[in-house]
Amino acid sequence: MAPPVNLLDFDLDALTAWCATLGEKRFRAVQLFRWVHQKGESDFARMSDLAKSLRDKLASTAEVRPLKILTEQASADGTIKWLFDVGGGDAVEAVFIPEDDRGTLCVSSQAGCAVGCRFCSTGHQGFSRNLSTGEILAQLWFAEHHLRQRLNTPDRVISNVVMMGMGEPLQNYSALVPALRVMLDDHGYGLSRRRVTVSTSGVVPMIERLQHDCPVALAVSLHAPTDALRDPLVPLNRKYPLAELLAACRQYLAAAPRDFITFEYCMLDGVNDSPEQARQLIALVNGQAGAPRVPCKFNLIPFNPFPASGLLRSPRERVLAFAKILQDAGIVTTVRKTRGDDIDAACGQLAGEVQDRTQVHSRLTRPDVRPVIPITAAPPVQP
Ligand code: SAH
Ligand code: SF4
Repeated sequence: MAPPVNLLDFDLDALTAWCATLGEKRFRAVQLFRWVHQKGESDFARMSDLAKSLRDKLASTAEVRPLKILTEQASADGTIKWLFDVGGGDAVEAVFIPEDDRGTLCVSSQAGCAVGCRFCSTGHQGFSRNLSTGEILAQLWFAEHHLRQRLNTPDRVISNVVMMGMGEPLQNYSALVPALRVMLDDHGYGLSRRRVTVSTSGVVPMIERLQHDCPVALAVSLHAPTDALRDPLVPLNRKYPLAELLAACRQYLAAAPRDFITFEYCMLDGVNDSPEQARQLIALVNGQAGAPRVPCKFNLIPFNPFPASGLLRSPRERVLAFAKILQDAGIVTTVRKTRGDDIDAACGQLAGEVQDRTQVHSRLTRPDVRPVIPITAAPPVQP
C-alpha cells in the first residue's frame, strides 16, 4: 500500500488538486485545510462538517504528519525552543519568542546548512538535507496549536514567522514557497506578508524568483561592507558578490510588502565592527561603492559565540558606536536583544543534530585552513 499522503505538504491549490483526485470540489479542500491549519485537527473522524464517506477515505489515504519532539527547553525570558526529530539521525530546532505585541516563531528550513558561514554553529555542522514543505510547516502547526492549548486561548499566538532557524531557506526554494503560501493563506495561518520574513545569506537568483512567486519581508545577512571581508565570512559571497546582492535587494523592493530590506549584521570583535567599516557600509547601501542605493534598516546582532568559531562578540560600546554612525547617516538601526541565550536558542546557536553529509565541519575546523578571516581587517577602535 502507498504510504499516506502528508496534508502538511500541500498549499491550498495543491490540496485542491489532490482532493479533485478523490472527486471532491474545492470547497471541501478549503474545509479540510481550515481544520488542519486553523483548528490544528489531525483526526479526520473529528472533522464534523465533512461527509462520513470522505472522512473514511481520508483516514485510509492521508495523514497530518507531526514531527517527533525530542526536547523542549524554556528560557527564563519566555523563549521556548523545541528540538524536532526529522529522521535519519537529523534533528532541527524551532524557537518561539514572545513579546508584548507579537509572538514570533523562528523556523528551520534545512537539516544543517551548506553555506558554511564561519560565525554560525549551524554552518559548522555541515549539511544533511532539505526539509520538505510538510516538515517546515509542522514546526508552525505544532507550535501554534500547542501554545494555544498551553495558554488556554482560542486566539492566534504566533503573529510573525522568521525563516531564521537552521538552514538557508533560499537553497530549499521549492519546499519553502508552498510553506510560505500556507502561512499567508487566509484559510491557513492568515499571516500578513509583512510579518513573514525570509532571511538569506544572499542567494541572488532565488531572491529574484521570490519576488515573483511569493513576496514577503526580506532580511539579508550582510555582515561585511566589502567583498574582501564577506568572502571568508559568508562563502556564498564568492558566487554572488555584494554588487549583485545589492542589485537584487533593490529590485526586490519593487514587489516587496515592505519598502525596505533588513540587513542583518553580526558584530564580530575586531573583524567587522570598526567605525571605518560602519562608514564603508553607509557608502555601500547609499550607492557610493559601485552598488545601487538600497532603502534599508540595519539589525546589529551581537555575535553568539561558540568555541569552534574562534571568534568573539564585539564589546557593547563598540556595537553602540557602530549603530550611532549608521543612525547619524539616517539609517534606522537597531541592536538585537539576545533572547533565549540561556538555552542556546539565540541567533546562530541553533545546532540541532545533523549528519554532516558534506564534511563542511571538518573543512571549517581543519587547522591548515584557519584562520581564513582576516582578523587584521578592522583597525583598533579609538578610545
Ligand atoms: N541562512 C539564513 C537564515 C538562518 S541564520 C541566513 O543566513 O540569513 C539567521 C541569522 O542568524 C542570520 O542573520 C545569521 O547571520 C545569524 N547568525 C548566524 N550565526 C550567528 C551567531 N553565532 N551569532 C549571531 N548571529 C548569528
Ligand atoms: Fe547557513 Fe545562515 Fe548559518 Fe550562514 S548564517 S551557515 S547561511 S544558516
